[in-house]
Amino acid sequence: MSLNVSKRRPLVAQSEIRNMTLECARVSGVNLAQGVCDLPVPEPVIRGAEEAMRAGTNIYTRFDGLPRLRAAIAAKQRRFTGMDLDPDGQVVATCGATGAFYAACLALLDEGDEVLVFEPYYGYHIVTMVSLGIKPVYVTLEPPEWGFAAQDLERAVTAKTRAIVLNTPSNPAGKVFDREELSVIADFAEAHDLFVFTDEIYEHFVFDGREHIAPATLPGMARRTITISGLSKVFAITGWRLGYALCDPEWALAIGHFSDLVYVCAPAPLQIGAATGLEELGPDYYRGVSDEHQMKRDRFCDTLRAIGLTPHVPAGAYYTLADVTRLPGATAKERALYLLEKTGVACVPGSAFYSGPVGETLARFCFAKEMDVLEDAMQRLRRLG
Ligand code: PLP
Repeated sequence: MSLNVSKRRPLVAQSEIRNMTLECARVSGVNLAQGVCDLPVPEPVIRGAEEAMRAGTNIYTRFDGLPRLRAAIAAKQRRFTGMDLDPDGQVVATCGATGAFYAACLALLDEGDEVLVFEPYYGYHIVTMVSLGIKPVYVTLEPPEWGFAAQDLERAVTAKTRAIVLNTPSNPAGKVFDREELSVIADFAEAHDLFVFTDEIYEHFVFDGREHIAPATLPGMARRTITISGLSKVFAITGWRLGYALCDPEWALAIGHFSDLVYVCAPAPLQIGAATGLEELGPDYYRGVSDEHQMKRDRFCDTLRAIGLTPHVPAGAYYTLADVTRLPGATAKERALYLLEKTGVACVPGSAFYSGPVGETLARFCFAKEMDVLEDAMQRLRRLG
């Protein structure tokens, strides 16, 4: 038999996040590896989905989503960022931000294209591109501010560069790009005529009075930016698979067609649940969730400091990268496994977020857990002494 798997198969391995989740289950530990938030799903979101199922919204929707959801997304985007979008041409509802990013890569990039990505990066961005024959080129963000210089971008660009990927607030560093940094990126994208893919799934979680700035709102950026986000994180519905892409109508149609090809549509009644949440939840809800993550960030980072795993305190999102060099092991994976065996707390080895060796000194912890779960994790970590 010569029925071999595709040449692309070896490019897609089980993610380190899933590996550590399995390791964690093996020892019945506390899983701070996976980026899921245990907070309760807001009542309007559940009610909206339930009512939609009973009312018969159970069949395929249009490939770019139900009009009510697209209108709710456009209204929310106007409310939070001032972006002015046509819900009937510039909004594509997708199966998660993951589905939006995949469809956008399929629709707008070709094999052999190069794409600039900041590291530490979100692994799915990389694997998605690599599996499509697109080459990520890394620009390293330097702690403590996770900054970069314009020259870093210029050094990385070639004649094959077609796009730059931004993630703000970022996973795993919690980097929130400020206006000045975004202006540098905007000028650079303009000078080299690049697409800008921005993943803003953590847009509502920004700490210490910072502001999330949607990159598409910078001068000249709306026409080259594909804004990607979703409801997974803000409504704690990672399993519902609801996200979206916002961009120029020609690109939106292309993204919608590729999304149709892979997913057909986002789950119909859940689209109504998300729309209901977007329509009914006010600023207090969004502020409340962000404040709760900030409080947990502070408590968790204090614990990490106390046990000598110095954290990089994030400005947004709900992860912290910590220095794990005090743990025995030659690699971040060995150190993460040691921590799991010793304390029962699972984290993700930093090597999952870097192309080079820097990640071997780091681990990522997700602190978006119910308080009793986080307390349990912090108590276990203190055992490390
Ligand atoms: N983008 C980033 C940066 C993430 O961290 C995650 C999940 O961890 C996702 C996208 C996934 O989003 P979705 O559930 O909408 O596919």
